[in-house]
Amino acid sequence: MSDCIFCKIINKEIPSNIVYEDDLVVAFRDINPQAPVHILIVPKEHIPTLLDLNEDNKHLISHAYMVAKELAKKEGIDEKGYRIVSNCGNDGGQTVYHIHFHLLGGRFMTWPPG
Ligand code: ADP
Repeated sequence: MSDCIFCKIINKEIPSNIVYEDDLVVAFRDINPQAPVHILIVPKEHIPTLLDLNEDNKHLISHAYMVAKELAKKEGIDEKGYRIVSNCGNDGGQTVYHIHFHLLGGRFMTWPPG
């Protein structure tokens, strides 16, 4: 999608700090990190929100979680723990309408989220 910032990152039209890429997803460091480790795992396919998941694209979710697991190990946050967050829609706090998973770690995460 031409006006989607994450599609532009995926297509290398704007710079980002990419830490992992394969044929299905890209992972890059969040520009406004909320934890010592804050990486976004983003399916290459433009899917606006979690409500747009279906039988054809649902495999991207398990793949993103597997990538998150490997990145957690690589970033050294696997032993102490980490959090994966995906915001959906306005009340969920979603600002970029291309589904993504926040991988957060390197500090203790409080609950409930704000
Ligand atoms: P929120 O902004 O409330 O976290 P989202 O769940 O939609 O909502 O997350 C979008 C994330 O994308 C934010 O954490 C934001 O800092 C990040 N972001 C926006 N633009 C860029 C960019 N160009 N490079 C890296 N991260 C970005």
